[in-house]
Amino acid sequence: MSAFWAEPDFDAHELVQLVHHRASGLTAIIAVHSTHLGPSAGGTRFWHYNDPAGAMRDALRLSRGMSYKNAMAGLPMGGGKAVILADEQRIKTPEMLAAFGDAVEALGGRYVTAEDVGISEADMVAVAQRTSHVSGLPVADSASAGGDPGPFTAYGIYLGVKAAVAHKLGRESLSGVHVAVQGTGSVGGGVARLLAKDGAKLTLADIDESRAAKMAGELGGTATASDAIMATPCDVFSPNALGAILDDAGIAALDCAIVAGGANNQLARPEHGGKLAARGILYAPDYVINAGGIISVATEYLARREGRTGDVAQVNALVAQIPGRLESIWQESKSTGLTSDVVADRMAQKLIGRS
Ligand code: NAD
Repeated sequence: MSAFWAEPDFDAHELVQLVHHRASGLTAIIAVHSTHLGPSAGGTRFWHYNDPAGAMRDALRLSRGMSYKNAMAGLPMGGGKAVILADEQRIKTPEMLAAFGDAVEALGGRYVTAEDVGISEADMVAVAQRTSHVSGLPVADSASAGGDPGPFTAYGIYLGVKAAVAHKLGRESLSGVHVAVQGTGSVGGGVARLLAKDGAKLTLADIDESRAAKMAGELGGTATASDAIMATPCDVFSPNALGAILDDAGIAALDCAIVAGGANNQLARPEHGGKLAARGILYAPDYVINAGGIISVATEYLARREGRTGDVAQVNALVAQIPGRLESIWQESKSTGLTSDVVADRMAQKLIGRS
């Protein structure tokens, strides 16, 4: 027990639920970091971990990140996250999703779930058979808030990249700005498409090399190997795959002016914010720039609770506030000498009553 409380990523989480359902084979962790601002909200990750301790670390770090993200997005929601531990074959069954839905329901609304890496809209529909504390469900029409949060996350990142380019490079247009995109899934793919429309020069990488190559062909960009993307000389490195990529080696490899992307928990450790700044690289704090999806999820959920449908125009208006929020962080960073990640953390901690 003492080892658990000493876990470096444990941050006075309100609740950490270990779930095991023998009949379906479901093993999951649900972490509720804070409900200070409202019910904790954050997606469910379905991932194979070689070491289960990695799953606990992810649940703890990602749920704290959601507290900060939701607070900074101005949402009346706290922070939580779930991780389903997949086996090596990544087998996901309807029975497992049903058992997971029961586990969410048992928390009585303290945790609201949605999609994350490895979890689709169809999976959420299955979970919704067992609990109402779920969001990211299909929508009836394009004016209604909801559905896959990925496109809203991508839209916010695209706006954030534009803001970063204006701030750091003094360029109002993305035309000819070189962006290296790591991960071309739901978020990274959406970011790449939006950047391409503005004439950005794209280099794309994914561990699924055919996926990156296909998208590069479609958008007129270049595909590179996933182990080469961080060292690609570019204006903006946009990480949209997994977290902790900004470690000593990753930062040393970077050849860019800006890091702005959607992956959660990009800094391997807190000191890596300082290491990025020491290299003169502008950093867009991940949970601020990637809040578009949770804004959609929360708008959908809160509207459904009131028996109405959320409005997609309201989601887009809230997502459009992301660049202004980033700019105020960078301004405060400049005036205080604190790095942008520390400024954002302090703002978020104040909002959730933990400063
Ligand atoms: P996804 O599963 O659709 O896409 C992830 C992509 O990254 C996949 O194509 C995968 O092959 C690729 N990938 C994995 N490891 C890689 C590596 N080492 N190098 C290059 N590519 C790699 O997931 P997503 O929804 O696009 O999420 C991407 C990131 O954004 C995650 O960190 C997620 O937590 C974060 N995020 C997602 C949302 C959302 O709305 N989906 C919101 C906020 C944050």
